Amino acid sequence: MALDIKKIRAQFPALHQEVNGFPLIYFDNAATTQKPKMVIDSIVNYYSTVNSNIHRGVHFLSQQATSQYEKAREAIRRFINAGTSEEIIITRGATESINLVASCLSRLLLNAGDEIIISAIEHHSNIVPWQMACEQSGAILKVIPVLDSGDLDMEAYKSLLSEKTKLVAITHISNVLGTVNPVKEMISQAHSKGALVFIDGAQAVSHMKVDVQALNVDFYCFSAHKMYGPTGVGVLYGKKKILEQMPPYQGGGEMIKEVKFEKSTYNDLPFKFEGGTPNIAGGIGLEACIRFMEGLGVDHIERYESSLLRYATEKLKSVEGVRILGESKRKSGSISFLMEGIHPFDAGTILDKLGIAIRTGHHCAQPIMDRYNISGTMRASFALYNTKEEIDTFIEALDKVKKIFI
Ligand code: PMP
Repeated sequence: MALDIKKIRAQFPALHQEVNGFPLIYFDNAATTQKPKMVIDSIVNYYSTVNSNIHRGVHFLSQQATSQYEKAREAIRRFINAGTSEEIIITRGATESINLVASCLSRLLLNAGDEIIISAIEHHSNIVPWQMACEQSGAILKVIPVLDSGDLDMEAYKSLLSEKTKLVAITHISNVLGTVNPVKEMISQAHSKGALVFIDGAQAVSHMKVDVQALNVDFYCFSAHKMYGPTGVGVLYGKKKILEQMPPYQGGGEMIKEVKFEKSTYNDLPFKFEGGTPNIAGGIGLEACIRFMEGLGVDHIERYESSLLRYATEKLKSVEGVRILGESKRKSGSISFLMEGIHPFDAGTILDKLGIAIRTGHHCAQPIMDRYNISGTMRASFALYNTKEEIDTFIEALDKVKKIFI
């Protein structure tokens, strides 16, 4: 059954506005997506009915809030097919999830001379925490190079893997090039050397079905705000066996069993990693956005978005002077491109004047820019509410940009 895009768009209040006198065309979905009414309502409903702190209260409101929050954890478990909800840590977002694992593993596992492998197409959030872990432990960071096509150099990956590799941390989908990495194969290659694997799924979960058990991944993370949910909340999935061995991340309320001045003991999973009052409304909003996506069917979303990406790619290729960065056979979500003789920032500013929101710059991935010897790109990134008509308007707008600058 095809998605009814008109009906879907009607559920997103922010899409129905004019920007600079033009109907908004929102193509900055890799940065954050717009929110459907059911997500907004779930947050308003929490604050206007059951608002209270969770897990500790004997009273009615606290029990209601706890039950809604824990329902979110179960929804996340189901959404990514984790074995148990003990493996679902609710965090502030993908960035916090990566920092959590980097910090805990540098204390548990990493020693001087050990190696961590990342790739040349990582977001800064999946680079800097591992650099910090290396600084702390004396481990060494190795980088899988990227080919001109935007695919990772898999031969180089194989030769980087060795008995010294303790961890491989790579993105599922590049937020700049749109490349979908062959993560299943990369995970099994890393496991054959005894290394753990962390997959940054920030750009993946809104576009494709993710099954952490089928991937056999050790850690997987994402943020709610890139999948139609609220900001300030996200997920860390970790295999129970490893999470149990890891020391806590932050100390505070909730993550303890018993506190004595001599020594404190820590809570069971997943609470050991959830110190302090969490973003309760955010967690409840995350449950609503999962319900929203599952209601439409993630496979339907994937199929529709692939057709949008193919259409936009064909159209962009027909614009003279446009160069697309990253032409992997497996792409999803985003297209980065350059226009000959026009600075991305200038083009982005004119497009904004025409009501079209794209992103320009380095997209928090400066090493990719260095790799292609550029300072930034224009990036159009799509969501399930975008349409081919919007893409047509965008392509016409690029012609207007050219007329102004060339
Ligand atoms: N990884 C990737 C691939 C991303 O695209 C982003 C966000 N742009 C992040 C990590 C960080 O996500 P957040 O800012 O929501 O923590």
